[in-house]
Amino acid sequence: MDTRRKLAILADAARFDAPCARRLPGAPGESSVPDQGICHAIAADGRTVALLKVLLTNHCIHDCAYCVNRRSADVERARFTVTEIVRLTLDLFRQGVIEGLFLSSGVMRSADFTMEQLTDVARTLRRDHGFAGYIHLKAIPEASPELLTEAGKWVDRLSVNVELPTQRHLDAIAPGRRLVTITRAMDRIRDGIAEAHEAQRRSVRAPSFAPAGQVTQMVVGADDATDAQILGTSAALYERQRLRRVYYGSYVPIVGAGDAVPDAAPPAAREHRLYQADWLLRHYGFAVDELVPDDAPNLDLDLDPKLAWALRHRDAFPADLNRATRRELLRVPGLGRMAVERILTARRWRRLRTTDLLTLHVPVARVLPFVHAADPNPALRLLDAPDLRDRLVRPRDQLDLFAAAG
Ligand code: SF4
Repeated sequence: MDTRRKLAILADAARFDAPCARRLPGAPGESSVPDQGICHAIAADGRTVALLKVLLTNHCIHDCAYCVNRRSADVERARFTVTEIVRLTLDLFRQGVIEGLFLSSGVMRSADFTMEQLTDVARTLRRDHGFAGYIHLKAIPEASPELLTEAGKWVDRLSVNVELPTQRHLDAIAPGRRLVTITRAMDRIRDGIAEAHEAQRRSVRAPSFAPAGQVTQMVVGADDATDAQILGTSAALYERQRLRRVYYGSYVPIVGAGDAVPDAAPPAAREHRLYQADWLLRHYGFAVDELVPDDAPNLDLDLDPKLAWALRHRDAFPADLNRATRRELLRVPGLGRMAVERILTARRWRRLRTTDLLTLHVPVARVLPFVHAADPNPALRLLDAPDLRDRLVRPRDQLDLFAAAG
């Protein structure tokens, strides 16, 4: 099988890895450049980088029901050699088509064998070719700790997919995968990162270890896991394993996958709401049980999670624009972090009026029922109105992650 055919198979097989979801079109005029597998990702410094995103192989000894590469799937299989991946990466990098490599893999023969091959790609690129581009390796969690330690030396980011939130969910559709093994691998990566930071504090010449940190991914809608279970696992991973990001990928139905997984994808809004809730956990001081309480373990698909929380806690409002704490203001629907900082700054010099909201570029109609200020606010009467939810709900096709996170 030639390299182009392998690339077509292994780039397609990698498309479900979330940290790099958008595919770039092929560069105009560069007909020698394949567009399969070239995608955008956000690097640690916030830049958008174009990466070659492929699997080393789509052979796998595991049989995760939601995965197109599972052992029992009737798909064409391929495997790159280390030399092929290295050459392909260098060629595309030198042509200016990519700025780095995102490499994942099915598990062939054993976890250690696969991890050795993945590490060999990164090591060969860095040590033998002086490759200065970005490298993100998806580690095999069952691999020995020594191999994870070795991989971390050569890459910008080293991460492990948790896939599902609890051991019960893994047992049901990812037989043989152990949550404790996955989190132990994350612990090893976390410790390697911390040790390298400490060593670099003492000496600028100390070697780095996955300086862009680690991320993970969860499949959404392949089983009965609730948003509360998913977000609970995310919150624990952020706290204990110091993850930079958890990515949520909607399950994509696979022909012939059997009864263990649904034959329909979850609503697209679910993944979007999970990202919004995740944002609120990380940046707005919300706890999981505030966003998805016991009596509502799934996010409302029609409302952004902060607005949903505010409607359930109307007694926490109105917030006084002139006296509320930062934490209280961050909980006002429609007020994002920048708007809150501007309010805190502006009110040092004068008493704010509701009309000042117009200069903050916030969705004023959404904010007004939840605040009071120095001037009369007729919209406050809506706070107790039974139809406030209906007035504020927006059609799903107008979803906007960043506005809604405010
Ligand atoms: S281990 Fe990974 S590649 Fe293999 S079947 Fe499971 S999810 Fe797919």
